[in-house]
Amino acid sequence: MRKPLIAANWKMYKTPAQASEFVTNFLPLVAGHDRDEIVLCPSDTSLATVIASVQGTNVGVGGQNMHFAEEGAYTGETSAQMLTTIGATCVILGHSERRQYFCETDETVNKKLHAALKYKLTPIVCIGESLAEREGGHTEDVLRRQATQALTGIAPADAEPIVIAYEPVWAIGTGKTATPEMAAEAHLIIRSEVARRLGRSVAENLRILYGGSVKPDNATALLNQPEIDGALVGGASLDPQSFARIVKY
Ligand code: PEP
Repeated sequence: MRKPLIAANWKMYKTPAQASEFVTNFLPLVAGHDRDEIVLCPSDTSLATVIASVQGTNVGVGGQNMHFAEEGAYTGETSAQMLTTIGATCVILGHSERRQYFCETDETVNKKLHAALKYKLTPIVCIGESLAEREGGHTEDVLRRQATQALTGIAPADAEPIVIAYEPVWAIGTGKTATPEMAAEAHLIIRSEVARRLGRSVAENLRILYGGSVKPDNATALLNQPEIDGALVGGASLDPQSFARIVKY
């Protein structure tokens, strides 16, 4: 059984005080909820505050990005070790906004994946096609290529913590959602590619999240698909009530 993971991607929103207020309001709404793993991914400046506020609860905390190097002269960056030692347990890698605005490539995502695993972070690797790629009939090729390149050099024995998020770029922050059937079809493609690269048993245990305008109103239909093992939620995760409703789909 794959335990669903519901992760909040707060992007560049919330000061530490606002993040702390969110946690105060959110924790009672999900107290005792253990059907799903719940993770909040604030910006780096709120990580310490959020980690301290969720201590001892059923909510984990992750970063939104990291550098692949151990350490070095990389102004503005955060390493995997820094995330781990502060108490983060997971990290989002290769989000389409990082790919679009910050030159993230399949190659850097792969390097980051290796570094995240080394430091025992659960990596949430984002892949997904653009609108032009979908309309051009290239969705399957794009998903297979991105999955393969992200997983390069990963041994089956090391793959257990990996989570993949299928995030069609045209659905992120746009209010357009993939239908549950479209998402499930994409997840099947990704799982079959993982099976081809790492074997059937790794693929069957690997969680594949859906992300792209998940809201309280559409969460149930999406998350009831057997192929969908959770959600990566942007806009709707900024409000504690709305994110709690998604968690409790
Ligand atoms: C995201 O940022 O990963 C995301 C899916 O955003 P939204 O839910 O706002 O589409």
